[in-house]
Amino acid sequence: MYIALTGTPGTGKTSAAKILAERGHIIKTVLELAEQYNATETVDGEVEIDTEKLFGALGEIDEIIIIEGHLAHLLPNGLCIILRSHPEILRKRLAERKYSNEKVMENLEAEAIDIILTEALEACEIVCELDTSELTAEKTAEAIERIMNGEADKYPPGKIDWSGAVMDWY
Ligand code: ADP
Ligand code: MN
Repeated sequence: MYIALTGTPGTGKTSAAKILAERGHIIKTVLELAEQYNATETVDGEVEIDTEKLFGALGEIDEIIIIEGHLAHLLPNGLCIILRSHPEILRKRLAERKYSNEKVMENLEAEAIDIILTEALEACEIVCELDTSELTAEKTAEAIERIMNGEADKYPPGKIDWSGAVMDWY
């Protein structure tokens, strides 16, 4: 079974995935899989992932592989875990990444209006949301393990609400 580990850029997917890998889980990034299955194309010098092609290429598997990346929920999965972070935390993290102001705001807005959640609820059977705003990467990885070990119902989708953060922008 594939498990999707998704979330807006900056929510801590890669940091959590690194710890999960250290704990023995098999992790693949969406990009690694896309390269493996020839599902990338270069548009205007940027690598784009053909999620439809990759979706078709990934068959049923017996082992458990965690697919990490902000498009992971668009690939086959038996469980989708969405990492969420308060927009003001994302603002700091994405600014440190030297994203342009425009790109920072695009991602903050996407987080605030639940874009990935909406897409995941359409595409995935079981969706969990994990607010990492106050968690270390270690605690995030531990919570992901709890979800994988049958506690998905403790992390139901739709409980996280960043509308207060958006009101502060105006
Ligand atoms: P993503 O893969 O979702 O884009 P990263 O794991 O790359 O996110 O994390 C983005 C930034 O936030 C990095 O600078 C990372 O060190 C930091 N970070 C990640 N998780 C946490 C956390 N739980 N607490 C504090 N900082 C974090
Ligand atoms: Mn990442």
